[in-house]
Parts: sequence; structure tokens; C-alpha cells
Amino acid sequence: MSADWLSNVEPMVYKSRIKVPYTWSVGETGSRFFVELRDNKRLFGKRCAGCNTVYVPPRKMCGRCFRDTDDWVEVGPEGTLQTFTVVRYSHELQPMAAPFAYGIILLDRASTGLVHLIGDTDLAALRAGIRLAPVFREERSGTILDIAYFRPGGSR
Ligand SMILES: [Zn+2]
Repeated sequence: MSADWLSNVEPMVYKSRIKVPYTWSVGETGSRFFVELRDNKRLFGKRCAGCNTVYVPPRKMCGRCFRDTDDWVEVGPEGTLQTFTVVRYSHELQPMAAPFAYGIILLDRASTGLVHLIGDTDLAALRAGIRLAPVFREERSGTILDIAYFRPGGSR
């Protein structure tokens, strides 16, 4: 089969947008993490007994040892900012109006950093190594945005 049909027609391109709503299960591990966050404002990771890594968000399997993770470990709620980037342009897909920052936050007792929003601060004063605490939403629904953002300082 050749592309002879192209010699007899003008190829047209239709440009548009499609909306594709979707849902999926977060599984056993993700469900426990989000239920604790929603109902108790507590953060948990999972530890691999093989290498002692505490994954946050929790993982069912250790990516280093290729085995199931073992223990639930309560982490945070405070942590240390490892790195960050400042968002200076608002977009409908962003969860906050610019300017704000995304950070990778190493929660206390965790081995891996959690990506989250940083707010309620002078963005020019952000530095890796500062302490951050979560600000939980009053109305929580079981998503990572039950933490509205992290802000510098201790828990309130
Ligand atoms: Zn491991």
C-alpha cells in the first residue's frame, strides 16, 4: 500500500483540543497515605528493610532492592528544603497563582524528598537547608493538596 491517495487530495490538519477526564486507583499504599493525610493530618512513608530507605511518598516496592517495602514510618511533619524553583507566571494548570515556589522537601525521618508547594514566605529569601512545615487545609479530600503548601518555620 502506498500513499497514492495523497496525490489526489489536499491533506488537511484539524487543530483542536480534547478534554480527557480520568480517574485511577492509588492502590493500597497510596490509599493509606492519603487517608492518614486527610483524616489525621499525619504523613507516612514506607521503609525498605533491605536498604533502610524510607520512601515519601510511600512506595509498595523498593526501587533499589526490587522487593516489597516493609514498615510504615511516620515522617515530618516538618522537613528541610533540598532545592526549589520559583514559578513566576500563572497558568490555569498550576495550583497557586504566581509567584510561588515548588520545593523538594526532605521530611524528618524520610530518605526521599517530597515535591510540594512553598508559600507564605519571601521567595527571595528561600535557601536550600531551611526548615519548612506543612500548612494543612481545613477541608481535606484525600489528595496531596490537602497540604495547601509548606512554609518556613515550625508547625503551628
Ligand atoms: Zn531497599
